[in-house]
Amino acid sequence: MKETFLGVDVCGYNYDELAAILLDNIEKNKKSFLVAINPEKIMKAQDDEKLKTLLNQADYQIPDGFGVILASKLKGGQVKSRVTGIDMMMKICEVAATHNKRIFLYGGKPGIADAAKVELEKLYPGIQIVGTLNGYEKEEQVILNTINENSPHIIFVALGSPTQEYWIVNHMDSVSPIIFQGVGGSFDVISGNLKRAPRFFQRLGLEWFYRLLKEPWRWKRQVILPMFLVRVLRK
Ligand code: UDP
Repeated sequence: MKETFLGVDVCGYNYDELAAILLDNIEKNKKSFLVAINPEKIMKAQDDEKLKTLLNQADYQIPDGFGVILASKLKGGQVKSRVTGIDMMMKICEVAATHNKRIFLYGGKPGIADAAKVELEKLYPGIQIVGTLNGYEKEEQVILNTINENSPHIIFVALGSPTQEYWIVNHMDSVSPIIFQGVGGSFDVISGNLKRAPRFFQRLGLEWFYRLLKEPWRWKRQVILPMFLVRVLRK
């Protein structure tokens, strides 16, 4: 089930539904690509047809931004609850651990994916993280060989957006993983190198506000939300 916001698709699955679908896709060897959608990306795609095509090319566009849920509510849509990139990644790790699926972590500064691996192993006993690679390795053959070495079923790509999404569409047919998710700065958060907003802010959907307090120079990102809502409602 998908809903479109200014030409960008968003799917309405929750964490459990999507995790079950992904496990099934692994069994069927059906390559799948997940992208996190927020108002910022949708607005950027308005002036960038290539980006819009890329976002719509993903198999599952998860509603990461609170603004997307708000827009859906205001227009009586189907996308009811947030599915954040990092929480979806955690859910996939959880089911991978219990279903013996192999994981690869690609991206972040040197050492970050390894540190995230250590944390994920603590959180999900039995998880098989069969390889890691930092996001600054430039040798294409090294990247491909390292990823393919232990035939992972799932790869999380943390190169920042939209670099990671372009990387995924350009490589998904030629590397062994079946499930591909672009996860931005998630390895930084999981490894403990970057703090996420306190639960209080997360629960109220106010992570953006917390970020604004911590990094006021990002204010430009925040004025996008009202512009986005106005445009969605005008349509
Ligand atoms: N990064 C990388 N290789 C690069 C550029 C960036 O691995 O050439 C990593 C960077 O270390 C960080 C992530 O990509 O971990 C980008 O995180 P950010 O939160 O900026 O991404 P967003 O979620 O905003 O797209």
